[in-house]
Amino acid sequence: MIKSQLYKLVTREFKPKDTIIDVNGVRIGGKEIIVLAGPCAVESEEQTIQIAKEIKKFGAKILRGGAIKPRTSPYSFQGLGEEGLKILAKARKITKIPIVTEVMDTSDIQLVCEYADILQVGSRNAQNFSLLKKLGKCNKPVLLKRGMSSTLEEFLSAAEYILNEGNPNVILCERGIRTFETATRNTLDLSIVPLIKQSTHLPIIVDPSHWGTGLRNLIAPMSKAAIAAGADGLLIEVHNNPEVAKCDGQQSLNFVEFQHLMQEIKIVAKAVGRYL
Ligand code: PEP
Ligand code: MN
Repeated sequence: MIKSQLYKLVTREFKPKDTIIDVNGVRIGGKEIIVLAGPCAVESEEQTIQIAKEIKKFGAKILRGGAIKPRTSPYSFQGLGEEGLKILAKARKITKIPIVTEVMDTSDIQLVCEYADILQVGSRNAQNFSLLKKLGKCNKPVLLKRGMSSTLEEFLSAAEYILNEGNPNVILCERGIRTFETATRNTLDLSIVPLIKQSTHLPIIVDPSHWGTGLRNLIAPMSKAAIAAGADGLLIEVHNNPEVAKCDGQQSLNFVEFQHLMQEIKIVAKAVGRYL
């Protein structure tokens, strides 16, 4: 059990029972493994609606898609902004599945809240305390990614900021951290999954797409490992045509690969007393 002076509301001592977050009937943190899938970035209405229909068909419960993108280079595609949010809302209307999208700045919270069912905080903003505090005052669940160089204590302290402002609905997300290893872009720290399950009541999901860019064939094994380790869900990038994706195409699965992944993880889920 991790003991820290830095947080209390997130701990199991404070709340022994698992937090289950209900997003329009999709329950994250219960026995069901929830898969959130979709493109890295919303590129067009046609693309997003097609992806939403396909991922739903294969069992994903929530559509992901970035409208406001945190890109390393200012010259990379920055996302469609509000137009992207409108496209996501349209995809939700058609497929009836909730949507998660990133909010990068406090000034965007109100806008993103108007459209999204879950607000995502990206790895690069994991310790943006003004953003976290403001999200703590929102009435929408927050998907909080681990900072790429955050320790477990720093990750949980970031979640504490949100709970401390009154929002109890935080979904934690491991997406890989920076280490000396260069074979992968980030090191997916799956040991944090059981540690978080033991020391906190919050749901934890794993994003196996962002840890090993260019290593698409590692997504299935790491997804299976994440579920075996106790993750409550997975965040997977899926694209209709990964070769021409405007963002993170090298790590995005096509529809056939996603369908296979869903079949494979079902078996692991069953083996650990969960289901999809
Ligand atoms: C994303 O989910 O598309 C993303 C930008 O992830 P991260 O913040 O983990 O890099
Ligand atoms: Mn991405």
